[in-house]
Amino acid sequence: MSSGKKKLKDLLQQSDNRTCADCGAHDPKWASPTIGVFICLKCCGGHRLLGPNISKVLSVTIDEWTDEEIDAMIEVGGNSSANAIYEAHVPDGVKPGPDASSEQRNKYIRSKYEHQEFLKPGLKISNRSVPQPSPPKENSFHAPSSSSNPTPKPECLDGAIGHLKITVLQGANLAVRDMLSSDPYVVLQLGEQKAQTTIMRSNLNPIWNEDLMLAVPEDYGPVKLQVFDYDRFSADDIMGEAEIDIAPMLTSAMAYGDASMFGDMQIGKWLKSHDNALLEDSTVNIVDGKVKQEVSLQLQNVESGMIYLEIEWIPP
Ligand SMILES: [Zn+2]
Repeated sequence: MSSGKKKLKDLLQQSDNRTCADCGAHDPKWASPTIGVFICLKCCGGHRLLGPNISKVLSVTIDEWTDEEIDAMIEVGGNSSANAIYEAHVPDGVKPGPDASSEQRNKYIRSKYEHQEFLKPGLKISNRSVPQPSPPKENSFHAPSSSSNPTPKPECLDGAIGHLKITVLQGANLAVRDMLSSDPYVVLQLGEQKAQTTIMRSNLNPIWNEDLMLAVPEDYGPVKLQVFDYDRFSADDIMGEAEIDIAPMLTSAMAYGDASMFGDMQIGKWLKSHDNALLEDSTVNIVDGKVKQEVSLQLQNVESGMIYLEIEWIPP
């Protein structure tokens, strides 16, 4: 762990930062370095509505933080210090609790940070701007596959129960769509959200090794996977599809709760059947305190093609 990340973890362990600055929910995993508070997933949605100029939200566990962003958090000193200012004069009964509706919560967050209604009279805080990271130096190393594709941003979708980090590992024996080969890319869809890999030029056995992030809504369905052939001159051709049933992973992850409390073991299984696209049974495992699942798929509605994935559950 880098020293910056360690400083951030230490700050998060401070007792006042073990509850959300806005609603008091336990174990917040998000933060706003622009304001200097740790917040829960539900309040994160309210902060996003304010826009990044007022509150830029980052995940403590998933996002890469710059040193400037970490220093900004440390400078404020945590939720108590921030609330001593932003909640100096909150009328009774106005502050939402952990079970507040998103409407109540978002209204409070807007009053607290944008309108600054609860400050000491006469006080007004101008928005601090957190410096943006400087562009990478020319001689710094970038893996070729990720250079054109920035690190995926986890979204704190309102009502999301957590995130899936889906690593698209590789494809094999994909279908030919151009003269001799194809330029494949993978699209994943969960509800309204879509995420896609980079395009691989003339490659029927591409190795992507790319992480895609999807927020999981409460009423989730399967993740839809589609492979396309990029075509410069016409609509992209489909090269097969498959559905990923995420219920076995989510139900076992929920049943075990905090996976870091357990040693490595198998906790669930998605079974191969003629109704699904699995090449083999896919087990859900706790590995190094994380819930992970390897998935091998036979693409459907196409003459050939397989896709290999690794899925990691990232709790809220
Ligand atoms: Zn909250």
